[in-house]
Amino acid sequence: MPTRQERIEGAIIGLLVGDALGVPYEFHPPEELPPLEQIEFDPPVGFHRAHQGVPPGTWSDDGAQALCLLASLLACGQFDAEDFGQRMLRWYEEGYYAVGNIVFDVGITTAKALRAIRAGTPALQAGPTGDYDNGNGSLMRVLPLALWHQGSDAELVRDAQLQSRVTHGHLRSQVCCALYCLWARRIMEEASDPWIAAVSTLREIYTHDEAATTELEWSIRPDDEPHGTGSGYVVDCLRSARLVMNAGSYEQVVKAAIALGHDTDTTACVAGGIAGLRDGIEAIPQRWRTRLRGMELVEGLIQQL
Ligand SMILES: [Mg+2]
Repeated sequence: MPTRQERIEGAIIGLLVGDALGVPYEFHPPEELPPLEQIEFDPPVGFHRAHQGVPPGTWSDDGAQALCLLASLLACGQFDAEDFGQRMLRWYEEGYYAVGNIVFDVGITTAKALRAIRAGTPALQAGPTGDYDNGNGSLMRVLPLALWHQGSDAELVRDAQLQSRVTHGHLRSQVCCALYCLWARRIMEEASDPWIAAVSTLREIYTHDEAATTELEWSIRPDDEPHGTGSGYVVDCLRSARLVMNAGSYEQVVKAAIALGHDTDTTACVAGGIAGLRDGIEAIPQRWRTRLRGMELVEGLIQQL
């Protein structure tokens, strides 16, 4: 069994490596992707890679925003929406926690929210709340909250929802973030079935919250057999991560995530963080760990956790 420190490090590096591994394969349907054994930081010769000009091993918006969240939590000692919103704005405008300060990918809903923050909207009201504002943009960065959090399950759920609202205000996105954080916490506690345990806790916490219960039971449908298509929809992203967790080792999990196609970096980030948490840092292949760019941005943060 990995130690707690190995799990935490595995989760952070696991989400960053998954994101970086998925970047060149983004936007492709699954049938256009190379076979699993050829999914590496460098795609095979002749593959039409997404984000041309971005060097192999570079994390995207997912990784940078997760590090913004972690830096904010460590600096404030609590979840502070305004501080987090300002750091997110610094990422968008100056490339804070982006490798080489270069931002090459930003979601539509996130960009809208960050422009609202720049114009003075309070961070907790900045995230659009429409049905079509349920991309995976708040889910992809939330894992550091679960790693850092010392409070009760209810407090973790509350903070997971608040962090979503900074860019993704719809309740469905908030509930997905809450379930993902509880899932991570149950893995850290070595629960025998972490997903089932997380769902059961969330049901209790939402006992008197009809709207959140409806999202959980009718949109997320956590008791359904795992299935997912690797799309950018927050519910599909969470389900895809759960699906590919059955693929085996860390390496098999992130490759299975990318093999779903479409939003490959985010699916591999969301699944890779969980797989790294489950298996620990030593389970992440050395060839990926040594080629991950921007490690100098991460090391200090991990040490403080
Ligand atoms: Mg991305």
